Amino acid sequence: MTSMTNLIRKRVLVTGGAGFLGSHLCERLLKEGNDVICLDNYFTGTKQNINHLRDDPHFELMRHDVTFPLYIEVDEIYNLACPASPVHYQHDPVQTTKTSVHGAINMLGLAKRVGAKIFQASTSEVYGDPHVHPQREEYWGNVNPIGIRSCYDEGKRCAETLFFDYHRQHDLRIKVGRIFNTYGPRMHPNDGRVVSNFIMQALTGQDITLYGDGGQTRSFCYCDDLIEAFVRIMNTGDHFTGPVNIGNPNEFTIKQLAEKVIELTGSKSKLIYKPLPSDDPMQRKPDISLAKQELDWEPTIQLEEGLGKTIAYFDGLLKAGDKSVADIQRAA
Ligand code: NAD
Ligand code: UDP
Repeated sequence: MTSMTNLIRKRVLVTGGAGFLGSHLCERLLKEGNDVICLDNYFTGTKQNINHLRDDPHFELMRHDVTFPLYIEVDEIYNLACPASPVHYQHDPVQTTKTSVHGAINMLGLAKRVGAKIFQASTSEVYGDPHVHPQREEYWGNVNPIGIRSCYDEGKRCAETLFFDYHRQHDLRIKVGRIFNTYGPRMHPNDGRVVSNFIMQALTGQDITLYGDGGQTRSFCYCDDLIEAFVRIMNTGDHFTGPVNIGNPNEFTIKQLAEKVIELTGSKSKLIYKPLPSDDPMQRKPDISLAKQELDWEPTIQLEEGLGKTIAYFDGLLKAGDKSVADIQRAA
């Protein structure tokens, strides 16, 4: 006989599920009693991120590239597949655009075929180097269409277009979340993003690399807060599509972040300055009024607490002699 649990158990697909955010999301969805299919091509994600979930009978791992079509039965799709760090998405920019655009087409096609609800992990990068501060969802952005960040920014913008056209044209139930800089355990130590770079540099006694004068700002959200927002967005009624900003509105300069990391690690690392990469946005801060109103959501973990947990994670990797950090240790 089928149990009640089986009757209400949803089958949820997480693309990019072996990545930083995807692995936390899989964990959360399993805890809520769902069947979770974690899809990944392991470009930036690792099996290590989801190893602890593999014995769960409700967890399934699938090696697949979202730029190719997929035929499976699911109730909900969280589309996270895409490298998020500038270093990684600029490594093969053509593939990055394909992942966002072909990936969106394939996952939207799947959602249409099986009648699934679908969430898109969009980004604050759709605002580019913004002239409006803080950024509200109504702002259309200031994005260079031909620069080195465009493969990511324009890919994500085009994915949003596709989501809204599938909604208008095919009545698809869509949810679009615009994620601002998020950090936490399971970021790859070689990821290249600022939080992982600074913590790894501080823990290994290397110089802390500030790009530009370090005066550019970002607003950093801890991963647990963000995952809570993902789930709340998916659970909104069909009237709600987003786009909705999700992130922590507390804004810091990159130099302030470096100083905070030095203070919390007790490191002797020095600050050094390197050229600012082109099109690097000068300021970034979400207006989260819409998320507060529609999701009753706001971040609960502030920078110092979140950095503490993240530092403990990277410190653990270093102490365990994790292979992924061996190169960094050798360079120190
Ligand atoms: P991540 O790089 O850790 O995760 C991305 C995952 O997608 C990886 O596991 C990678 O292997 C997988 N992937 C990449 N290309 C793929 C493909 N073609 N087919 C299948 N899998 C593929 O990055 P993250 O920080 O976890 O980001 C997850 C999502 O959230 C991304 O879509 C990213 O654009 C978005 N996002 C993240 C942030 C952030 O600050 N973390 C900010 C804005 C948006
Ligand atoms: N940054 C830095 N040093 C680093 C890595 C990044 O100063 O070692 C800066 C980068 O130039 C940017 C900010 O930190 O201004 C955030 O960079 P990240 O790559 O984390 O994300 P994004 O630029 O996509 O917000």
